[in-house]
Amino acid sequence: MPSRVEQISVNLAAVRDRIARACDAAGRGRDEVTLIVVTKTYPAEDVRTLAGLGVRHVAENRDQDAAPKAAACAELPLTWHFVGQLQTNKVRSVVRYADHVHSVDRPRLVAALSGAAVAAGRPLGCLVQVALDAESGDRGERGGVAPDAVGPLADAIAATDGLRLDGVMTVAPLAGRYAGQPRAAFDRLVEISSRLRETHPAANMVSAGMSQDLDEAVAAGATHVRVGTAVLGVRPGLR
Ligand SMILES: *Cc1c(COP(=O)(O)O)cnc(C)c1O
Repeated sequence: MPSRVEQISVNLAAVRDRIARACDAAGRGRDEVTLIVVTKTYPAEDVRTLAGLGVRHVAENRDQDAAPKAAACAELPLTWHFVGQLQTNKVRSVVRYADHVHSVDRPRLVAALSGAAVAAGRPLGCLVQVALDAESGDRGERGGVAPDAVGPLADAIAATDGLRLDGVMTVAPLAGRYAGQPRAAFDRLVEISSRLRETHPAANMVSAGMSQDLDEAVAAGATHVRVGTAVLGVRPGLR
């Protein structure tokens, strides 16, 4: 049996190789894509291992798990990303460790994040989560705003104290016209990102692609891929 560290090391090398190949195939530089390892459900020990292997970006999706883990890893040179659906009563905790929240999807959350970020004295990077399966006016099954609501929400973030507009994020939809079409979904996200950068040129993060579809995301132009399973293994339970 390989040790946990060996296992993670082998998986990480394979994922880095996939990213490098996808960059090559797309004529993109390897430095145009940042790997964020999603450490949800895995212990602080694994986060420590990842940091030792050169990972600099990790993500979590539940504050209850993330807050103690981030505290246990506070001395490591890591940037923490929050990628889960976020309740306003959790934002005070999240802004203490998170540098970026990828799942901003409503004005009330913008207001709550602003208040908390200002109080914590830590500026917070925000990405608008786009639900490509949501109709105008609706929210997505797994969070996110419909494409036509991205502009107004982005404007609100950019105009709000304590927050910085970093870009857009999506999860490839399981239903609707993009189901089973991750490349088309990510192309659409990149189009939305280009429109957004006409008015917010610094909002250049495009967060897309997970273990299954990171290659398509890199091909489409993602700047950040969020990979859990392919690095750390299949999570027990569905999350
Ligand atoms: C869990 C999760 C990921 C990683 O998914 P894997 O399939 O394990 O790579 C990426 N993004 C979000 C928002 C997640 O919740």
